[in-house]
Amino acid sequence: MTETAETGARDGAGALTNWARTVTYTAREFHRPRTPEELAALVRDSMRVRVLGSGHSFNRIADPGPDGILISTAALPRTIDVDTAARTVRVAGGVRYAELARAVHAHGLALPNMASLPHISVAGSVATGTHGSGVANGSLASAVRELELITAAGDAGTIGRDDPRFDGFVTSLGALGVVTALTLDLEPAYEVEQRVYTELPLEGLDFDAVAAAGYSVSLFTDWRTPGFRQVWVKRRTDRPAVDFPWAAPAAVPLHPVPGMPAGNCTEQLGVPGPWHERLPHFRAEFTPSSGEEIQSEYLLPRPAALDALHAVDGIRETVAGVLQTCEVRTVAADAQWLSPAHGRDSVALHFTWVRDEAAVLPVVRRLEEALEPFDPRPHWGKVFAVPSAVLRGRYARLADFASLVRRTDPSGTFANTFVRELLGLPGHG
Ligand SMILES: Cc1cc2nc3c(=O)[nH]c(=O)nc-3n(C[C@H](O)[C@H](O)[C@H](O)COP(=O)(O)OP(=O)(O)OC[C@H]3O[C@@H](n4cnc5c(N)ncnc54)[C@H](O)[C@@H]3O)c2cc1C
Repeated sequence: MTETAETGARDGAGALTNWARTVTYTAREFHRPRTPEELAALVRDSMRVRVLGSGHSFNRIADPGPDGILISTAALPRTIDVDTAARTVRVAGGVRYAELARAVHAHGLALPNMASLPHISVAGSVATGTHGSGVANGSLASAVRELELITAAGDAGTIGRDDPRFDGFVTSLGALGVVTALTLDLEPAYEVEQRVYTELPLEGLDFDAVAAAGYSVSLFTDWRTPGFRQVWVKRRTDRPAVDFPWAAPAAVPLHPVPGMPAGNCTEQLGVPGPWHERLPHFRAEFTPSSGEEIQSEYLLPRPAALDALHAVDGIRETVAGVLQTCEVRTVAADAQWLSPAHGRDSVALHFTWVRDEAAVLPVVRRLEEALEPFDPRPHWGKVFAVPSAVLRGRYARLADFASLVRRTDPSGTFANTFVRELLGLPGHG
């Protein structure tokens, strides 16, 4: 696995793939425009366009199909303008969180939260509803206050929180245009100390108390036994400490994937440090997670957390057979139409599978059956099998999003197969 500064990765034959090398993009052309003018001209002159962020998604969400072009925003100017008085940052869409976080921190400011890795692009993460953890923390898209984008006609537009369509535009699945810049809310920089606790049993688990025992809490299990091998608790040093009486602290640093080196992970053992060097699990300079993997994730209403965990425990042996690690997090409700946490405080059940699609897909289907009673909404950037018609029933504003797509992009320039199937727009474009 090569961690490139480029977008995505390349397979053995040199074809452009996603980071995990599980999806080969079928686009007829790949472009890396260097100026906004070049980008606008490319969009204006193309019938079918998709944008690639850092290529960390595990499905075909970014693939325009063989009649389309794929545009990377990575070579555009890497704008990061921090406004210390307003406590905001205006960042180019292709910038990755690691670079953004360092720049923001240098101004004594911070993002409210980060995902498990800082390697991902800001626009691509926001477009799929990417999140970290924390009972009071919304997805990364919750920090967005303004978006700048190039529409299908090649025109530049801006949309802010005061626009009634804003909540449709942020978690957009890339279907509304090329996001060239985002303005994000910041707060004063803070420090975080991270401790890992081991062997927390499922039996008797007080999920709400455990999830609230830190600013950001993640529970990890391999489902080989009914319980959690590790619980990662990230505490802000400017907030009162909460006891963790349910499991013992680890004496040495750990990696959440069994057998992987802890040196790839952010500092543990309660050593305080800057927010951006503790909130992600993985350090920017190393390959995150295992590198050889497929991922799936489902967001469910938080009150169902315990029942959902017992449902997974009921098929534990099936899941464990193809699992590297499972991570359980919380995400606060938001108002964005296509956010998997739309309108409900959520628990997120994430699965890092082995990289063997044929073995993993039947287990994904079995898992989805087990979670079905809890109305699960899959992560847009990961592998799922829930039919589009079922998904449409799980998003109260999905029809509004479909009409936003039709109005903003009447010719279907940005509507690839993933988007058309989801929205039920077979003839669109
Ligand atoms: C190791 C690993 C760990 C992960 N950990 C987490 C995690 O902790 N939490 C979580 O929620 N997810 C996680 N993910 C999933 C990841 O955050 C999402 O797949 C996210 O979309 C990745 O961003 P990207 O820039 O790579 O997006 P890409 O895969 O490049 O693109 C995703 C979508 O965004 C669109 N897009 C990208 N850039 C633009 C743009 N400028 N304008 C318009 N549309 C655009 C694309 O067209 C596509 O539809 C992880 C993935 C990996 C590989």
